This record gives sequence, C-alpha cells and structure tokens, in this order.
Amino acid sequence: MSFDDRRRNVRSLLFFLVALLATVVISFGADFAGAADRGELASGPRYTPTAADRALPPAPDDRAGPRVALTFDDGPSPQLTPYILDVLAAKRVRATFFLQGDHSQAHPELVRRVQAEGHVVANHAWQHPWFPDLGAEDAEQEIRRTNELLTSITGQRPTLFRYPFGQSSPEGDAALARLGLTGGVHWKWTTNRKGDFQCGGADAVTDYVVTEATDQAMILLHDAGDVVGCPPSQLEYLPRAIDQLRARGFTFGVVAPSPVRSAVNQGSPAVVVP
Ligand SMILES: [Zn+2]
Repeated sequence: MSFDDRRRNVRSLLFFLVALLATVVISFGADFAGAADRGELASGPRYTPTAADRALPPAPDDRAGPRVALTFDDGPSPQLTPYILDVLAAKRVRATFFLQGDHSQAHPELVRRVQAEGHVVANHAWQHPWFPDLGAEDAEQEIRRTNELLTSITGQRPTLFRYPFGQSSPEGDAALARLGLTGGVHWKWTTNRKGDFQCGGADAVTDYVVTEATDQAMILLHDAGDVVGCPPSQLEYLPRAIDQLRARGFTFGVVAPSPVRSAVNQGSPAVVVP
C-alpha cells in the first residue's frame, strides 16, 4: 500500500464517520420535531388572573370611545398561544387570530380553544408563503386548503384573510375574490418601534402596542413563528399593554370585513367592531 493509498483510506474512514454522525444527529432531530408537532412538548408560560382581573366585566365591551383590535398571526403554537389565550380570558378581551394552515393542522385543539373563547378565527395561508412567487393554482391552494381546514375544525367558515408579510399578489387577490374572502387585511404601523417578532423585550413591545393604539387600529402581534425564539419574559407585554390601554379609555374589539377601506390600517377592507 502506497502512502497515497493510506491517505485515501484515512480520508474514506473520516468521511464514513462524519456521515454516520450526521445520520445520528438528523434522526434525533426528526424525532424531536415529530414529538413537537404532536403537541407532546407543549410547554410555555401560563398566566394566572389577578384579583383585579377577576373583577372585570365580561366581553364584549361595546362602550363608546377609542376601540382597538389585537391581532395575532402565524399561530397556533403550543409555546405561546396558551399564555396569550389565558391573558385575553383573564382581561376579558376578544382578539383576532390569523392562523396558519400547517400549524392549525398540527394543533387543532388550540384552534378549538381560540374559537371557544370567543375570538375570531381568520386565514393566514397554509405555510406562510411569499405570494408574489406563487402561480395562480398554488396561491388558491394556500388559501383554500387553510379555509377548508379551519372550517372543519371550528364548524365556521373564516371570511378574513391576511397575506403573510402583508405581501399581496394579483393571483392571490383573484383567488380571494373567487373564494369569497376579504382582500388582504393589513394593520397599523406608523412608528419606528420594534414589533414583537423583533424580540425587543416586554418594555419595548408594550411601548409599541400603546404607541400604535388609536381608534380603529389593528395591532400586529404574533403567537408563533419568529416570536417563539424571543425570551419568554417578553410575553409580559400583553397584560401590561391591555391594562395601560384600558386606563386610557380604550376598548378592545375584533376585526370584521367591511366594504369601506380603513385608512388607519393601510386601506384594509375591514373594521374593528365590539
Ligand atoms: Zn405572518
């Protein structure tokens, strides 16, 4: 055996060991992801109502005054959705959830909880695509499949749609019209503050929500996606922002389709109702 042959053999052995290691790591990772998909690793913080929470009147709150809609995108997730639902229930606030089809398929029990607790279930496409990259058929499939799943889970057909990234396309708009859903529902975003998905922490996100809140504002928040990677303590923004807005006279409503476009929310074909 020449020196070169030996070197080749050592190289082959090294290659084999690396491949073996990679296989072991990948199969462990797949098991882990599979367990998470089945909800077995559902673990996240929960919220315990305070004495002040327990004294609140039940929703809806149809008093006059500025009304804001909290909207949560990309869910549901076992990490964040249970806490957010806990807070909304404790604070007697209804909200609007733009759910992803793939996440809803993985966690139908959370979709049922969203609906059972009086929130609005809305469509945010199947797996969060960039619509300008999709042909007509794929665009329709993303929207239709999600609506059919949410209808089968809740028994109610969603009528609101929000584009992933807020990014519309002519193919998507045509599919929405064919399927009888609203055009893309946007949100109000006028400050340069950090949104929840940028992991700025509880103080920063509270500041963002309170700053954006005006009458009819639809506030963009998330209960899955990038926010899952933020420190769990960031979630404390939610009870704090709700308390601060109430102290300023705000009530909380949900998003509903509207023929009149909302100037506050980038021309969204929707309105905030009690
Ligand atoms: Zn999204």
